[in-house]
Amino acid sequence: MGDPKGFLKVKRQASDFRPVCERVKDYKEVFQIPSDKKSMEQASRCMDCGTPFCNWGCPVGNYIPEWNDFMFHGHWEKAYRLLDAMNNLPEITGRVCPAACEYACVLGANDDPVTVRENELAIIEYAFKKGFVKHRVCGSRTGKRIAVVGSGPAGISSADQLNRYGHSVVVFEKAEKIGGILRYGIPDFKLEKWILDRRINILKKEGIKFITGVNVGIDYGVPKLLKEFDAVCLAGGSRVPRDLKIEGRGLKGIHFAMDYLTQQNKRVSGENFSEDLIDAKGRKVVVIGGGDTGSDCVGTAHRQGANCVVQIEIMPKPEGCRTDDYPWPSYPMILKTSTSHEEGGERYWSLLTKNFTGKNGRVSKIICKKVEFSKADKKGCSLMKEIPDSEFEIDAGLVIIAAGFLHASHGGLVDNLGVEKDERGNVKTNENFMTSIKNVFSAGDMRRGQSLVVWAINEGRRCAEAIDKFLLG
Ligand SMILES: Cc1cc2nc3c(=O)[nH]c(=O)nc-3n(C[C@H](O)[C@H](O)[C@H](O)COP(=O)(O)OP(=O)(O)OC[C@H]3O[C@@H](n4cnc5c(N)ncnc54)[C@H](O)[C@@H]3O)c2cc1C
Ligand code: SF4
Repeated sequence: MGDPKGFLKVKRQASDFRPVCERVKDYKEVFQIPSDKKSMEQASRCMDCGTPFCNWGCPVGNYIPEWNDFMFHGHWEKAYRLLDAMNNLPEITGRVCPAACEYACVLGANDDPVTVRENELAIIEYAFKKGFVKHRVCGSRTGKRIAVVGSGPAGISSADQLNRYGHSVVVFEKAEKIGGILRYGIPDFKLEKWILDRRINILKKEGIKFITGVNVGIDYGVPKLLKEFDAVCLAGGSRVPRDLKIEGRGLKGIHFAMDYLTQQNKRVSGENFSEDLIDAKGRKVVVIGGGDTGSDCVGTAHRQGANCVVQIEIMPKPEGCRTDDYPWPSYPMILKTSTSHEEGGERYWSLLTKNFTGKNGRVSKIICKKVEFSKADKKGCSLMKEIPDSEFEIDAGLVIIAAGFLHASHGGLVDNLGVEKDERGNVKTNENFMTSIKNVFSAGDMRRGQSLVVWAINEGRRCAEAIDKFLLG
C-alpha cells in the first residue's frame, strides 16, 4: 500500500462532466476521463483497510485494492493485468456500472468512498493508449464447438472466456450489430459505440466468429444448432417490456423505451430503420418509469429538442442517503440523480398513471393519481393506496414507457428449444447454468431477468466455466 495516509490528504474528486449547455447539443460522452496524475492521486485514497468489502461488493470480484496500489505507484501495466483477470469489459463497466463497490468501500463508512469506477476506467483507457491491450494468440484448440446466442455483455464475456479456454466459438446475433443493450439501449452520451467496436475487433482477431442478422431458433433452426455445436450458451437478454394496459394505450405517440432508444442509437450511427420516426422535438415528453432506462430517455429527449420533459414514478421518492434498511456495506436504495437529470426536466414520485387521453388519435394528456404505500408486511410487500380526489393531468405530446422488463422473449428460440422456464418466465438453469437440455446453458438477463452489465459479465464468465467443465471434465 503506497500512502497509508493518502485518504487523509486527498479528498474524493469524481469525474468532471462536460457543461450541460454544450453536451445537450450532441450525443458525445458526457464525462471526461481524468488525467493520469489525478487518477493516481485518487488511487492513493485506498487505505489498506484489511477487509476490502469493495471486492465483495463488485459482482465480478475485481481486485480493487491491488490495482489501486499498482496505479498509485505508476505500475499501470500490472494494474491492467489484474483488472483483465476478472473483467472482460472494464471500459464498459468503468463508464456505466452503478459501482456497488463504492457503496461497500470501507472509507465510505465515514468519508467519501474511493473513486473505484473512475480508477477502473483510467486503468483500462491507459492500457489501450499504451498498447497493453493486445489480442492473444490461442495456442491449441480443444476441437469443441460452442454457439453463443446473443451478443450483449453476457454473450461477449462468455464467448471471450470460452475462446481463452481453447474452444471454437461462434456468436450469433439477430440484430445488425454486436453489443445487445450496450449497442442499442444505452445512449452514446453514456457509451460511445467505438468503445464497443474496439473490444469486438480484438475478440475477432482472437478467433471468435460473430454472425449478425441471424435470429437463432427461426433463421437458424434448433435441430441444426444442436447438431453442429457441442454446447450452446443462451444469452438472449430479457426484453419483454412491462406494458400499461390502461385506457388510451392505443393512441399514437406512446412508445416503449427500448424502441425509442434503439431508434436514436441507430440514428447516431447512421443505421437504417423501417419503423416510424419517434422524435421528441418540440413536444412535451412524459417518461413513465423512474429507473435508469427512464433516465436515458430523459437525456435522449433533451437532445432531440423536447419542449419539456417530465419523468414520473409510481414508487415513493427514495431517501437522499442510506437508511437503516440498507446498512453499510449493502447496496442502498437511495435517490440517484443521473447526468440526464442534471440536464433538466422535472421528476415526480408516488404517481399512478390512470389513463391516456388524446386528440385526433394522438396522445395529448396523461391522467395521474397520487398514491401512498403502507409499510411492508412480514413478506416484505407494501400495499399501494390511491389517495382520493388526487387526480390531475399532465400534458403529453410523446409518452415513453420505461416501466421495466418482464422476462425473456419466448417465441422462437426458447419455445422451439423447449427449455424449461422459471416462475418469472426466464430460462431456468441449475447451479451450473445448465438448462433442462443437457448441453444447453444460459447466462445474463435471459436467466436472471433484467439486471446490470456487471452481473451479465459475471454470469457470462461463470457459465463459460461451467460449459468448459461439462465438455472437458
Ligand atoms: C435502456 C437501458 C439502459 C441500461 N443502462 C445500464 C447501465 O447504465 N448500467 C448497467 O449496468 N446496466 C444497464 N442496463 C442493463 C444492462 O444493459 C443489461 O442488464 C445487460 O445488457 C444484459 O446483458 P445480456 O447480455 O444478458 O443481454 P442483452 O444486452 O439484452 O443482449 C442480448 C442479445 O441477444 C440477442 N438475441 C436475443 N435472442 C436472439 C436469438 N434468438 N438469436 C440471435 N440473437 C438473439 C439480442 O438481439 C441482444 O443483442 C440498461 C438496460 C437498458 C434497457
Ligand atoms: S465493475 Fe462495477 S462494481 Fe466492479 S469494480 Fe468496477 S465499478 Fe465497481
